[in-house]
Amino acid sequence: MGNSKETLLLEVDVAIIGAGISRIKTAYHLQTKGPRGLSYAILENRSNLSGTWDLSRYPGIRSDSDILTFEFTLRWTLNVTSNNGDSDFDDEKKVRKVVHCRFIVMGAGYYNYEEPLEANIPALESFMGMVVHPQFWPGNMSYMDKEMVIIGSGATAVNLLPSVTDRVKHVTLLQQIPTYILPLPIQDQLSRVLRTLLPASTAGRINGLRFAIASFFLVFYCRMFPNAARRNFTKTITNQLPPNVKVDPHFKPRYNPREQRLCATPDGDFSLRSDQARPPIQLQSGDTLRTDIIVITAGLKLIFAGGINLSVNRVVPIDISQKFVWRGTMIVRELHQMKRKGAVSAVPRLEKPEVMEQRPLFNISSTYIRNTSQVFPKGGVRQWGQNKNYLLDILRAS
Ligand SMILES: Cc1cc2nc3c(=O)[nH]c(=O)nc-3n(C[C@H](O)[C@H](O)[C@H](O)COP(=O)(O)OP(=O)(O)OC[C@H]3O[C@@H](n4cnc5c(N)ncnc54)[C@H](O)[C@@H]3O)c2cc1C
Repeated sequence: MGNSKETLLLEVDVAIIGAGISRIKTAYHLQTKGPRGLSYAILENRSNLSGTWDLSRYPGIRSDSDILTFEFTLRWTLNVTSNNGDSDFDDEKKVRKVVHCRFIVMGAGYYNYEEPLEANIPALESFMGMVVHPQFWPGNMSYMDKEMVIIGSGATAVNLLPSVTDRVKHVTLLQQIPTYILPLPIQDQLSRVLRTLLPASTAGRINGLRFAIASFFLVFYCRMFPNAARRNFTKTITNQLPPNVKVDPHFKPRYNPREQRLCATPDGDFSLRSDQARPPIQLQSGDTLRTDIIVITAGLKLIFAGGINLSVNRVVPIDISQKFVWRGTMIVRELHQMKRKGAVSAVPRLEKPEVMEQRPLFNISSTYIRNTSQVFPKGGVRQWGQNKNYLLDILRAS
């Protein structure tokens, strides 16, 4: 692009990359609580808002977090600009549109929106049926009376399976490692009562806090008492299964709860509908896998910052895998503090990166998250450590 000209598309204080749910909320906070007169824009690659929750269209897609985690009031106008290839570079005129800003809030998610994570399945290319990745579920796909094999046992597989059982001829879940699959009541009675008795915003706040505290204690319990958690979860799962289905090996993970994903199923829809009476598919023995459709739920192909190339003055590329993440600071507070101090920029600097104790950025060991040290920055300790808990996050940020 050496000869290309530039035209200024926008000049804002804060450019937010990505219009997924988390950055819509950042924009909301900037607009409602940020310093007066602050300008911002959201730059979004796709034509739709809300990222993951718009992209994912496979049957059964649902959040297994409580709805209050994602809930917030929206009574304002978003400044969203499309920054897809068409709008940021005009091929004919050779004009690159640029955005000037003082801050970038990176909210491009953590996985590749264009490419799925391929599972290592030998001879998959010779399979004559349909291979589907849930991330790219075809809108017009018919699976009525078809044989389906779902590969994987993470949240996607657990959500998908009960949603197709009514239509498919038969569905088999082919897993390498079982997952903890726990039933949760679809209706939370106390939330309901609070919503009836209190104004919506007060009930929302109380319920949000209840769920945050409950998840704090769940994580604490699993980390402090892994054996008890394992026993309790296994008992709960066993109680859900029909008598002819053994918890071991199909529903007995080799890892401790919270080391990898823990899947919730509304009213136990997954296990109650499980049919383990059929013989397992002996793939390694050479038997033919008879199916019309293979759905690969191997996880996500992780990328950092939506694959954006980061550089200093467009000259010095930044190798993000060599950087540490500074603790998540609330940008709104940072901006207020800078305004008070009359500062125009704030840069966290690690004086001696070579002596910083390195911690993984993610504290779960799911297969697709392992070996991502070349993709993501590093985690450290103290103010370079990551808060893994919402309540601690709030405490440390204040
Ligand atoms: C199938 C699935 C199920 C999940 N279930 C849960 C759950 O139950 N509970 C939970 O808490 N979390 C869940 N997650 C995690 C989920 O990603 C978060 O809940 C939440 O959606 C993250 O929001 P976000 O705004 O950070 O990112 P995203 O929703 O990923 O949004 C990122 C946005 O950035 C845009 N973008 C990407 N690259 C660029 C670029 N270069 N330039 C401009 N824009 C770009 C994308 O188009 C997208 O709109 C799930 C994720 C998946 C994939």
